[in-house]
Amino acid sequence: MPAANTSRTEDLRAHGVEIVAGSLTDLAGVTRAKYVPLQRLSAFEKSGMGVSPSWSVFCVDSGIAFTPDIGVVGDLRIRIDPDDLRLIDDGVAWAPASLHDQHGNPAPLCTRSLLSDIERSAADRGLTALAGAELEFTLLSDEGGHASAEPWSPYGMRTSLDRSGFLVDLALAAEMAGLEIEQLHTEYGHDQVEVSLAPATPVAVADSVILARIVIGRVAARHGLKVSFSPVPFEGEAGNGAHLHLSLADTDGPLLSGGPGPHGLRDAGQSAIAGVLDGLPDLLGVYAGSTLSAARLKPGNWAGATKCWGLENREAAVRFVAATPGNPHGANVELKIIDPSANPYLAAAALLGSALRGIDKALPLPSEVTDDPAATAAQPLPTDHRTVIETLESSSLAADLLTPAVIQGLVAVRRHELTTYGDRPLAETCQALRLAWSC
Ligand code: GLU
Ligand code: MG
Repeated sequence: MPAANTSRTEDLRAHGVEIVAGSLTDLAGVTRAKYVPLQRLSAFEKSGMGVSPSWSVFCVDSGIAFTPDIGVVGDLRIRIDPDDLRLIDDGVAWAPASLHDQHGNPAPLCTRSLLSDIERSAADRGLTALAGAELEFTLLSDEGGHASAEPWSPYGMRTSLDRSGFLVDLALAAEMAGLEIEQLHTEYGHDQVEVSLAPATPVAVADSVILARIVIGRVAARHGLKVSFSPVPFEGEAGNGAHLHLSLADTDGPLLSGGPGPHGLRDAGQSAIAGVLDGLPDLLGVYAGSTLSAARLKPGNWAGATKCWGLENREAAVRFVAATPGNPHGANVELKIIDPSANPYLAAAALLGSALRGIDKALPLPSEVTDDPAATAAQPLPTDHRTVIETLESSSLAADLLTPAVIQGLVAVRRHELTTYGDRPLAETCQALRLAWSC
């Protein structure tokens, strides 16, 4: 949508826009928004709208996980990015927002600003990063239960054609919102759908993940459906992943191809993958840290539950995708462990930050796992929720990459989930949180 300041309001009005939303995604991975009438657009950009500091530590269930540093006193500003306004519904435009203090500085708990900082530190090393995102979600009935009861066939022609009205409307709505979808299909799980987004810079991709969730939710509503972005919407059924892809390049070209290492990896590319793997146990609470995440991270679920890497290995935490004529985007790594309860800005920051750390330390690449890790000596990651939280809390690696303030807030919201849901039956928690990460 055109962004020139003087004409922007007129353009939006011509598109029927009456209100403008700006959203933030909090540490629990929940997206929250404020709205202004169109005539207040410029205030939303410049001074921002007030939000309490507790916005960063709201929990999946409306609890608030106050910390010694975040209480009831203070005020922050949510400011939209004026260059990124999109049409998301009749009369409604949306833009991603960042969290600022009242003086206009990025707030310490603004995960979008944190990801920008890490992108900048890649640029300071002469590196450019491209990310890509895959969103899996589950269609629900309007009441929030299963959307359909008939037998499912994964990737089935029938299952997709039966939902062609939804898929066609989704493609149209995405186009209207300027959201670049690369692929969409019905997935393995019952009523599960996947959408892949075009590669872009990490901040742009995290923005697109949120925009995609919004667009998918709006289209579903028009079809009398709801949508779950829960890691495990129904006990015992397929989980939803939120895999992120990453590639890096310097002035000599891509780091993940054209070199002498395995599959053409250059030395720095090998160290980048080693860095992602090395950071995994500490950062699991960032990538898949909700009370439901462990139920998805099981061997056999293609969720990458084992700390290893391999070419096109769908059971490895890091799936390496080589540069071939079948892959026009070039070589990249896919971190499969991420689920949709993760804040996508923070997950991308952890992924890129740990790749850079691997390069800085020239970490050696572990041997490739060329088989199903279950058939090897490689052990699945410890995914027990308490262990994941305690590991994150005591990790200097996580604090160095993502700041102590962010880790403190993240631990607080995840510990609230542990306390509230840790002893409840899984089926009950699946139901309680089925819509927690939907937009
Ligand atoms: N649904 C799987 C997950 O939870 C991923 C399946 C796939 O590889 O597409 O991550
Ligand atoms: Mg998939």
